[in-house]
Amino acid sequence: MTSKSEQGLGELIAGYFGDGRCFTLSKGRVGLYVGLRAMDLPKGSKVYMPGYTCMVVPSAVQFAGLEPAYLDIDPETYNIAPNLIEDVSGAPSALIVQHTYGIPCDMAAIGAWAERCGVPIVEDCCHSFGSRFEGRLCGTFGEFAFMSGQWNKPFSTGLGGFLLVNNENLSDLVANIIDKEGHQPGTLKNLLLAAQIIAYQSLVRPETTAMLMGLYRVLGKLGLVAASSSNKELQGAMPPEYLTAMAPCQIRKGLREMARIESNIAHRIELTSYYQRELPLIGFSALSAKVPDGLPLLRYPVRVANKQEVLAKAKKHRMEIGSWFEVPLHPEGTRMEDFGYREGMCPEADRASREVVNLPTHLKVTESTAERTMDFLKKVATPA
Ligand SMILES: *Cc1c(COP(=O)(O)O)cnc(C)c1O
Repeated sequence: MTSKSEQGLGELIAGYFGDGRCFTLSKGRVGLYVGLRAMDLPKGSKVYMPGYTCMVVPSAVQFAGLEPAYLDIDPETYNIAPNLIEDVSGAPSALIVQHTYGIPCDMAAIGAWAERCGVPIVEDCCHSFGSRFEGRLCGTFGEFAFMSGQWNKPFSTGLGGFLLVNNENLSDLVANIIDKEGHQPGTLKNLLLAAQIIAYQSLVRPETTAMLMGLYRVLGKLGLVAASSSNKELQGAMPPEYLTAMAPCQIRKGLREMARIESNIAHRIELTSYYQRELPLIGFSALSAKVPDGLPLLRYPVRVANKQEVLAKAKKHRMEIGSWFEVPLHPEGTRMEDFGYREGMCPEADRASREVVNLPTHLKVTESTAERTMDFLKKVATPA
């Protein structure tokens, strides 16, 4: 099911990371699903992840016949707290590390634990394209990594996702599953996705994001646009044709994005250090010294005491300020117990969900947008 241009994008991305193999898919979560299937872990065994993620991550784990389990985050890095890993008992079958907001996990500590305990690592790189831990690219530490091409991710293919497999044996198994079970998006789906990509490119700017994303969610619930998650999926059921390849229009968008990936990353690095420098000047905490300098963050997290008020006023004043994650298993309204999350399991993730708003770093954010964002926070937000 691979067309020529699809191989072009997959190879380009694999080449960016090193010498793995990259599969182009309809969503990032689908990469997690098919990667786990190929690993052939014991049915029903536990896969650990941070309790500060999107619900589509544990749902993909469940679709693969495995049981999601959660670790709390370090409040300074928003990533799995390495000291909590030491307490994990009962031989988990895999650990998903998520480089939240583009902040790399402590792969020295986590890698040492994983090696000692014989637990394979999977990387959620949906936020971290171009981030490095001690010089090495996130996405190259685990058996496989998955990335998202959804609207708000480091670069967008409309919707879409990537699976980067770092182990040759595993990539053959993945290719087999995709060949046997994978669907190709039909002509209509391709046209719909192409129209959405064009609409996104021409309409969405920092000033219009909140309004248009609200509209998109409404149309998605009504089934009028290709949505990020179907209603069924939000309730934990596997949607039909879950395992689908990336559509040709998404691949073309991905190729255009990869052609400017270096300037995208440079822009994110610049805005990340701008926020890092400016936030303390207006009374907010910058990221702690645990977070290395020079990262291309996807979003810059800021803790505020009045999150709901900040979000409401940002919408009114047409400022792009993000709310994820809203709850430990984003989005708000997820029945978290359906995914094995028990109330109070991850207190730091709960607190982060209540306090953190995030600031954009993408290519449409200019210096003056960033300055306006600082003015806005100074006027409206209370530091947590
Ligand atoms: C967006 C996101 C995903 C899912 O990506 P899709 O392409 O929407 O499946 C997974 N993990 C994290 C951390 C994300 O932000």
